[in-house]
Amino acid sequence: MSKLWDKLIVALDVEDKGRIRRIVNSFSGRKVKFKIGSVAFTRFGPALVEELVKKRNPVFLDLKLYDIPNTMRKTAAVITGLGCWAFTVHIKAGEEALRAVKKEVAKAARKGKLSRPLILGVTELTSKKSSGNKVLQLAGIAQRSGLDGVVASAREAGRIKKKYHLKVVTPGIRPPGAGKADQKRVATAGFALAQGADYIVVGRPIIEQKDYLKAAEAVLGC
Ligand code: C5P
Repeated sequence: MSKLWDKLIVALDVEDKGRIRRIVNSFSGRKVKFKIGSVAFTRFGPALVEELVKKRNPVFLDLKLYDIPNTMRKTAAVITGLGCWAFTVHIKAGEEALRAVKKEVAKAARKGKLSRPLILGVTELTSKKSSGNKVLQLAGIAQRSGLDGVVASAREAGRIKKKYHLKVVTPGIRPPGAGKADQKRVATAGFALAQGADYIVVGRPIIEQKDYLKAAEAVLGC
């Protein structure tokens, strides 16, 4: 049971600070991680990241960096300085940019005496239909560039785990029988974890419910 909490990343795609705090507090004492994406980051900025990190919550900063190598590496250094547990870059930014990010993260972590955040490469968005081969090819670039893992749907998680030494983070998780909303490549948490996903990302099936903890238990099937 505690092992499953450890695998859950709750996506805080919420514009209300009070609600964010209520969601985070509902999971206190469990080893849940929290994803801050463009919605919450645009609204609250790095202060929200710092608030969560200060309270020892692992933060996954999902800004999906996609830029020229110099801009990506400088942003990655700032993210490392915030004390994030993980962050995302687009694999399509290319090997040169990804290697620059890796190098800069190590340097910034050493300088700040901080743990190095995991660098996760986004393959194809789970809201898009995509061929598994394309995702595998992108995962190959991620591995060659020295990334720690990739974001991919449950449908590709098994093949990626078999072929590469990468962590797989899987969004598009829905409780059995629930609607997909805008997601296309969805799966249950049970299926994703059975495929070897290291972490699952869950937003609306938890954050749009009244009882966040109960909703999370329903998603995890416990
Ligand atoms: O609400 P839902 O569970 O669909 O949220 C999924 C979260 O994962 C969102 O924050 C979305 O931005 C993110 N995500 C995704 N697909 C990716 C990468 C991130 O859905 N490939």
